[in-house]
Amino acid sequence: MAANGEADTATPAKQQMKWNNVILLTVIHLLALYSLLVVVPRAKLITVLWDLLYGIVGGIGVTAGAHRLWTHRSYKAKLPLRIILAGLYLEAGMNPLFEWVRDHRVHHKFSDTDADPHNASRGLFFSHVGWLMQKKHPQVLRRGREVDMSDILADPVIRFQQK
Ligand SMILES: [Zn+2]
Repeated sequence: MAANGEADTATPAKQQMKWNNVILLTVIHLLALYSLLVVVPRAKLITVLWDLLYGIVGGIGVTAGAHRLWTHRSYKAKLPLRIILAGLYLEAGMNPLFEWVRDHRVHHKFSDTDADPHNASRGLFFSHVGWLMQKKHPQVLRRGREVDMSDILADPVIRFQQK
């Protein structure tokens, strides 16, 4: 905090760790490595194929749903497709859709600045996964409150997913 009581926006959020996310992301990646080295070589082919399909389907929820449809409005989708995409998105195990869209809109609007949630100028690790392990920079929070999310809040699929 600055002397006037306002949040100090010049201080990077480097030291403010989200330890629950650090532990969760570390465990998930260790389990993935264990699975790749120990489980997959012993698994049935159909299990491995199912695993790949599961990953691809989750990826479609993120790329076609959260990214292209809801963040960038690259195309229009009727209710049944939006429900399917939201379901596929859930499978990927990411932040709630509203947060994903808000963070990504802020990312595009303020790329490579302190307001970019995964600011690449803070390094490769930070821009890929480190940003999830730390509290957001004050500029990210500020710009996230300002970005227009009215279309997202108007979508009953996203409102339901938030609940
Ligand atoms: Zn994008």
